[in-house]
Amino acid sequence: MDYDVAIIGCGVSGANIARRLSAYNIKTVILEKAADVSFGTSKANSGIVHGGFHHNKKYLKTRLEIQGNLMFDQLKRELDFPFRRCGIIVAALHEEEMKAVEHLYMQGVENGVIGIEICSRERILELEPKLNYDVTGGLYAPGGGIIEPYRFVFALVESAMKNGVQLLTNFKVSEAKRDESAGLWTVHAEDGREIKARYAINSAGLFADEVSKIFGGEEFSIKARKGEYFLMDRLTKARPGRVVFPVPTAVSKGMLVIPTVEGTALVGPTADAVDDKYDYSTTTERLEQILDSGKNMIPSLSRNDVITSFAGLRPFLEEDFYIEPSKKAPAFVQVAGIQSPGLTASPAIGEHVKNLLKDMGLELTEKPGWDPFIEHRARSRELDPFALDALIAKDAAWGNIVCRCENVSEAEIVQAVRLGHHTLDGVKYFTRAQMGRCQGGFCTYKIIKIIMRETGLSWDAITKHGRASRLLEAEL
Ligand SMILES: Cc1cc2nc3c(=O)[nH]c(=O)nc-3n(C[C@H](O)[C@H](O)[C@H](O)COP(=O)(O)OP(=O)(O)OC[C@H]3O[C@@H](n4cnc5c(N)ncnc54)[C@H](O)[C@@H]3O)c2cc1C
Repeated sequence: MDYDVAIIGCGVSGANIARRLSAYNIKTVILEKAADVSFGTSKANSGIVHGGFHHNKKYLKTRLEIQGNLMFDQLKRELDFPFRRCGIIVAALHEEEMKAVEHLYMQGVENGVIGIEICSRERILELEPKLNYDVTGGLYAPGGGIIEPYRFVFALVESAMKNGVQLLTNFKVSEAKRDESAGLWTVHAEDGREIKARYAINSAGLFADEVSKIFGGEEFSIKARKGEYFLMDRLTKARPGRVVFPVPTAVSKGMLVIPTVEGTALVGPTADAVDDKYDYSTTTERLEQILDSGKNMIPSLSRNDVITSFAGLRPFLEEDFYIEPSKKAPAFVQVAGIQSPGLTASPAIGEHVKNLLKDMGLELTEKPGWDPFIEHRARSRELDPFALDALIAKDAAWGNIVCRCENVSEAEIVQAVRLGHHTLDGVKYFTRAQMGRCQGGFCTYKIIKIIMRETGLSWDAITKHGRASRLLEAEL
């Protein structure tokens, strides 16, 4: 089958582009090398919808961040993913840090950030009573928020597919040839599959440099910058009501304390350049640093509340995003170097890339039957006992709680599997099963059995996140 547009890489950038293009009468395909979507940088980040004051608006990333931020309320209504505008605080712990706060404030005003406020000590403590009492003041941006990043990507892809976009997973783009007379790219996967498309979009995250090379596009090098985190149990007393930032450093926004939208708390991330783009290791040294830095802002943070650690890798190219039609490869758009605030900017990236494609000659006519909404899905932990009883009466699987830490029922796991999430991580990111205090210690084998029953896969085909991540050495 020939497509109008092939999107390479399905993180939050590719997913937003796909969803935006799904509103038009064109054929779009997403090519993703992983077993599921959102398995790259988009799965491990701070989950913050940034406030638009950290960077100057001379950067494209800032302009897209500000535009993207404003798009989340409507997206939430349409796509039913966890998102809350809890507000962002920058806490100054010394008088001299107030200079940096003033700079951020002026930048925010210049960028048009709504409701941004410089705060006295009293005001900042009123906004966030768990802050260190030595705080001298700070900044407040009420429009900042928190989001579950993988659920956002899943919802965007579900919506895009509902409106006709095709998704090919385990499709690692390894070769591309252009037939200029036909105006088509032939794109090959490592496993021998191929598709043809008129336009190709490179949204391959950490590997956008490799994909650019495959298409004969610009040569550049994406560097990985690692961010390590601690995840705190939902029972922690230190979970703030708003995202708490320190005053930023030259290389990063600093280590923060984040109330996740699902009720846990995150502390981190670090910012270290690493050579290996698969290095997701965490280190005792950095984790100690994170805890110290977090306690500096919220003293009640306790090591006893830590349930796990993890790391994410920022795809760093240069100061700004690189979103442009390639000057070397025809009908090829670069969406590269999408480091922070890529998650926040992503809805605006979708809009921006749609406009670039239009300028490049892609004819876009609106689909009359485009449906922006996806189905609302019940979650047992959010239901009152009466609503849950009603569901159990229809399907007993709602009464079988598989993940006790996060209160996830068998019915929800089945739903995730039937929607195409066939790995343990896919089920985890869709349902939160395995994300709680025991980190899957009690529920993993139950989830494996459900995946096997629902898909007919044998025990040796069950993986954590595809390919070589097989889990079992023998039948359960
Ligand atoms: C520690 C950390 C904290 C962050 N915090 C925030 C935050 O709070 N707020 C915010 O706005 N932003 C944040 N970000 C930035 C944000 O996470 C990224 O900008 C965003 O996730 C990038 O999405 P992407 O789709 O461009 O890349 P990715 O999510 O990496 O997606 C790229 C996809 O391409 C696929 N791919 C690669 N090569 C190929 C190939 N050859 N063929 C097919 N597919 C391929 C990959 O498998 C992957 O799925 C943070 C990032 C990090 C690392």
